[in-house]
Amino acid sequence: MRLGGLLAVTMVLILPAAAADWSYEGSAGPEHWGNLADGYEACAIGVEQSPIALVTGDASPAQGPVLELDWSPFVPHMLDNGHTLELQANGLGGGVDYDGVRYELLQMHLHHQSEHAIDGEHAPLEAHFVHIAEGPKLLVVGVMLKPGEANETLGQLFSLWPDTVSDVVVGDTEVDLRTLLPPSSASFRYQGSLTTPPCSQIVSWVVMSEPMTVSADQIATFTDRYPHNARPLQPSHGRQLSLVAP
Ligand SMILES: [Zn+2]
Repeated sequence: MRLGGLLAVTMVLILPAAAADWSYEGSAGPEHWGNLADGYEACAIGVEQSPIALVTGDASPAQGPVLELDWSPFVPHMLDNGHTLELQANGLGGGVDYDGVRYELLQMHLHHQSEHAIDGEHAPLEAHFVHIAEGPKLLVVGVMLKPGEANETLGQLFSLWPDTVSDVVVGDTEVDLRTLLPPSSASFRYQGSLTTPPCSQIVSWVVMSEPMTVSADQIATFTDRYPHNARPLQPSHGRQLSLVAP
């Protein structure tokens, strides 16, 4: 796969116009995203939007597809993109095979509070591991981060947080993102969208049903910089939701 070419397309479909200013509240908040710029219409009229409420009782127990992750350690490039802290992987961190498609890890970022809710509960943080395949289409692995023991990898990433929006800080040791994955591979699966403009409906969502822990200090480190960067829950419109057990 030519990730370079894919990234160019990504700029248009996923990361358009850093230009059109959107935010999480006020006149550029989520309820206005659809009107902020050409190309953002799906945010308002799409019927496969994310995030959604993940309810165990509503999910059909299913067999697969198997999520075959082959993430590998890589040197982190950290960007503060003005909406969140983002770890740029750009194909260096391995990827995932899913339902016969090969996806490369593109980036990881965080939301506070969690965007998805599991059985009515939001976690303080949700990590999104964004993977891209030709199409382009995306597969995002979501992991809930709850208060408990600190996560060393997250600490490593936070130590590289740029002082200025749009700056990138490059680490001098590799990070291993597998340490941010829960031991159980049980996960909710559904078809949805980006949770930020342009809200493109090209995302296979895999949200791990078990959380990982991070320390209260780590949660505070994030929320000091981003006190609110979560899109509200969107209607399911009868979409299929599955819960795939290991
Ligand atoms: Zn996200």
